[in-house]
Amino acid sequence: MSDRISRRVAAVPPSGIRKFFDIAATMQDVISLSIGEPDFVTPDVIRQAGIASLQRGETRYTSNSGIAALRQAVVAKWAQLYGVLYDPEAECLITVGGSEALYLALTAILDPGDEVIIPEPCFVSYEAEVTFAGGTPVPIATRVENDFQVTAAQIEAALTPRTKALLINYPNNPTGAILGREHMAEIAALAERHDLLVISDEIYDRLIYGGGRHITFSSLPGMRDRTIIIGGFSKDYAMTGWRLGFALAPADILAAMRKIHQYTIMSAPTTAQVAAIVALTDPRAEEAVQAMVESYDARRRLLLDGLNSIGLRAFEPRGAFYAFPDIRPSGMTSDRFAWALLEEERVAVVPGPAFGLGGEGYVRICYATARDQIEEALERMHRFMRRHG
Ligand code: PLP
Repeated sequence: MSDRISRRVAAVPPSGIRKFFDIAATMQDVISLSIGEPDFVTPDVIRQAGIASLQRGETRYTSNSGIAALRQAVVAKWAQLYGVLYDPEAECLITVGGSEALYLALTAILDPGDEVIIPEPCFVSYEAEVTFAGGTPVPIATRVENDFQVTAAQIEAALTPRTKALLINYPNNPTGAILGREHMAEIAALAERHDLLVISDEIYDRLIYGGGRHITFSSLPGMRDRTIIIGGFSKDYAMTGWRLGFALAPADILAAMRKIHQYTIMSAPTTAQVAAIVALTDPRAEEAVQAMVESYDARRRLLLDGLNSIGLRAFEPRGAFYAFPDIRPSGMTSDRFAWALLEEERVAVVPGPAFGLGGEGYVRICYATARDQIEEALERMHRFMRRHG
């Protein structure tokens, strides 16, 4: 049988990040700066909450939407931090990571052939998830000249009668860009004019540096009713393995998402949900977040200064935990650079094109890695650039 796998699924290539990670894992003495994951263990107070929950025997399903106290904590936090109010009953859903929330959002809104505009470079899953959900991804390239911010004019140029939604992610993986209020306002006006939905992946909302403040897209005038917020615990609270995230969305869209979630997932992991209540409400968890942000910021500076000093000019990332340096001074393509750096110096980074359009000429470096590893990686890259620069 030649058509066992759906064309939709067969058409999607495997993730370029995993390939690098898997090969790097088989080599000795590799410094991996390739995976987008905090190097911190989940803060103790959160872990203890999970352990205590298990010891109390809380091992059953929760309500489909997620534990009520967690939904209340999510909306309270969003209101406190960003001033947008959501109804915990009708407008909040607890999911298996931001990943599930994203997939639900796309599946809930897309009919076959509906187009989703995706500013790239972006998280590797976006195009694939749009395709799996039956939609058509329409990538557009952001540029370093615009600080990797998408502009309303770029979006406008990509509109067609089939455009249904825009999928944005700030702070951004892989560039570390954030989106300024003016750009946001222009995009909001465009979304209103063309009746677009906006999926705003704000999974790195707490990881912002240099005194900036996160602005949630739904806080822009008129946007609350057309925005689906994707949030999570993986990055801000170093909880990647707990698999927990959330969505905040207008009631009709959230109900559709909940329907898919009910039939495919039932409920997010119970232990993780109980622990996440503590993540959002215990001051010790908040202190831990602040400490992690400070630590990332120090490593961000270290990496940025180091890259610039060895001739790999890097756009200053303002959020998340990635740098996206320009590797063209090496005279190599991104792929060649990443493979040669791995083979010659045992440093793993991800070639920019793994993140889509606009990625050629760049690599992604994750600095959620121990300081001494970053220092050692910089030395190795320096040696590499002396040979190739
Ligand atoms: N969105 C972005 C931009 C990401 O970088 C990631 C993970 O790397 C996710 C979503 C998914 O996160 P999770 O499913 O762990 O919450």
